[in-house]
Amino acid sequence: MARLVVTGTPGVGKTTIALELSRIYGAALIKLDELITPTLKWDPELQTYIITNEDYARRLIMERLSSIHSQYIIDTIAVNLIDPSLVDWCIVLRLEPTQLMRRLIARGWPYCKIVENVLAEVVGSSLTMAINTFGEDKIIEVDTTNKDVESIVKYIVDKLREGRPIIGVVDWLNTVDTEFLVNLSKEIDNCITR
Ligand code: ADP
Ligand code: MG
Repeated sequence: MARLVVTGTPGVGKTTIALELSRIYGAALIKLDELITPTLKWDPELQTYIITNEDYARRLIMERLSSIHSQYIIDTIAVNLIDPSLVDWCIVLRLEPTQLMRRLIARGWPYCKIVENVLAEVVGSSLTMAINTFGEDKIIEVDTTNKDVESIVKYIVDKLREGRPIIGVVDWLNTVDTEFLVNLSKEIDNCITR
């Protein structure tokens, strides 16, 4: 039985991959954002939704997941809201930061929101959060860079079958062009001090 979380920085491909996995396993697809909508409020300054009541959000998630007695795939950034006892594996999708930046620009997001998220990918925030929530033993980290959806999904299915955790597949700080990183940190400075 697979009770999976698919996480990662916005734009890495969570929704796309979670949908494919749910088809393959015949599993329920849970979009966490939709589940916790009653607790979300748009913050115009941060240009994002914030959770107004974390306890309530946790409760909504707990109730929904406990009611499913088969497999499910959860699509989310907010892994910290999920009780680890309800999850077997957490798939952390990674994407080379310049490619991620292109995807977020294509989404038409405000520049500062793009920079913030690309930096989060550079330092691996989503991986850290997943490890903190579920522990290293439940993590399968996947580098999706230059791979099509089909090969990513096949890779994940293979790794789930092997049943061993995988961490440390990318190191963007040492692979991404230094100038790109320096510019990002300058941009985030501008965004913060604005
Ligand atoms: P997330 O849910 O993590 O924000 P999405 O699944 O919405 O990401 O994907 C972001 C964009 O990238 C979408 O336009 C999607 O079609 C595209 N995409 C997702 N996976 C891939 C891939 N492996 N190769 C190319 N484009 C992809
Ligand atoms: Mg999504």
